[in-house]
Amino acid sequence: LAACGGGGAGSGDEATEPAGNGGDTAASGDQTIGVAMPTQTSERWIADGEAVQSQLEEAGYTVDLQFANDDIPTQTQQIDQMILQEVDLLIIASIDGTALTSQLDAAGAAGIPVIAYDRLINGSENVDFYVTFDNYNVGVQQATSLLVGLGLLNQDGSENPDAPEGPFNIEVFAGSPDDNNAGFFFNGAMDTLKPFLDDGTLVVTSGQTDFDTVATLRWSQEAAQRRMEDLLTSTYGGGREELHGVLSPFDGISRGIITALQGAGYGPTIEEGMPVVTGQDAEIASVALIDQGVQFSTIFKDTRKLATESVRAAEAFLEGNEPEANDTDTYDNGVKVVPSYLLESDIVYADNITELLVDSGYYTAEQVEQGS
Ligand code: BGC
Repeated sequence: LAACGGGGAGSGDEATEPAGNGGDTAASGDQTIGVAMPTQTSERWIADGEAVQSQLEEAGYTVDLQFANDDIPTQTQQIDQMILQEVDLLIIASIDGTALTSQLDAAGAAGIPVIAYDRLINGSENVDFYVTFDNYNVGVQQATSLLVGLGLLNQDGSENPDAPEGPFNIEVFAGSPDDNNAGFFFNGAMDTLKPFLDDGTLVVTSGQTDFDTVATLRWSQEAAQRRMEDLLTSTYGGGREELHGVLSPFDGISRGIITALQGAGYGPTIEEGMPVVTGQDAEIASVALIDQGVQFSTIFKDTRKLATESVRAAEAFLEGNEPEANDTDTYDNGVKVVPSYLLESDIVYADNITELLVDSGYYTAEQVEQGS
C-alpha cells in the first residue's frame, strides 16, 4: 500500500521533504494521528481540539481532527474511518464511554494505540492510556465551592467558625450518565456534602439525590433548565420559597439552572437572592456571570495542559515506549485498570478570575468583560 498521507493522488509533496532527517528515526512527519472529540456545542471541546491539533502539528504529526455533534453513530463512523485510513494512533474523547468497543477492537487488531482523552472508554482491553484531570477531586472542589458560597467553609477549605446555622435548601444535578466522569464528579461532591446533609445543615428539599434521578443526559443545558423549572414548581412554590444553593457539574448546566431561577424571580445576582450555583470548565459565558456576581463558581481545567499530556503520551507510544503514568489504580474500565495521567484543577471565584484565567493567558480581561 502506497500510503501518501491520506491525500491520494496529487498530494505528492514528498520530494520537498528534507532527505535523511539528520539521523532522527522518529519520522513523525509521516505519521497521522486521529483525534475524535465529542462536540462543538461546548467551548471546552473546541479548545481541547485546537490545543491537541496545534501541539501535535508542532511536534511534526499530521492530524485528522473530527467533532461528532454529540451523536454516537457519527463518532463511531469517524473512528471507523480513521482506522480504515490507517492512522498511527488514536486520541478519543468519547461521547458514550461504552459505545466504542468494536472500534477499539479494530484498532487493537490493527496495532493502533488508543489514548482515552478526558473521558475513560469502558469495556475494552484496547485502551492503552488515559489522560484526564483528577475527576473525583473536581467533584470535591464543586461541593467545596457550594459550601463556601453558603458561608459554611472558607475558600481555603477550613470551617468557618462564624458559619450561619442553616438549614440551607439545596438541589443537586449530575452530568451525563454515559460519561464515566459524571459519576466521579458526583461521588466527590456528595461525599463532601455528606456530613452537612447528615447533620441537617443542608437539606435537598426535593429529596432527589439519586445519581440516575439527577443525571443530565449529554450534559444538556435545556434539559437542566427544564428540570430546574420542574423542581421550582413542585418544591419551591414556583419560586416563592427559599432555595439557597444548587450543585451543578458543568457551566452549560449552570446557565440552564440560572435561566430557570431568574425566570422564577430569583436574583438576578447572588446579592439579590440568586442561589449559589457551581459549575465546571470555566466557559467564558460563565466566567462573565461569575464576574457579574450571578454564578458563584466554576472549576478551571486547563485544556492546554491536558493537550500537552496527550501529545506526550502519543509521542511515547509512537517511539515504542510506554508513557509515564501518575495513577495506576483508579480507572478500571471493567476489563482492565487503565494507566492514567491525572492533572489538577482549580476553583474559580469572582476574586481569583484574574489570577487563574487572565494571568495564565487562558482568557483576556476583555473576554471576561464581554463574556465571549
Ligand atoms: C468533562 C467536563 C465537561 C463535561 C461536559 C466531561 O466529561 O470532563 O469537563 O464539563 O464532560 O462536556
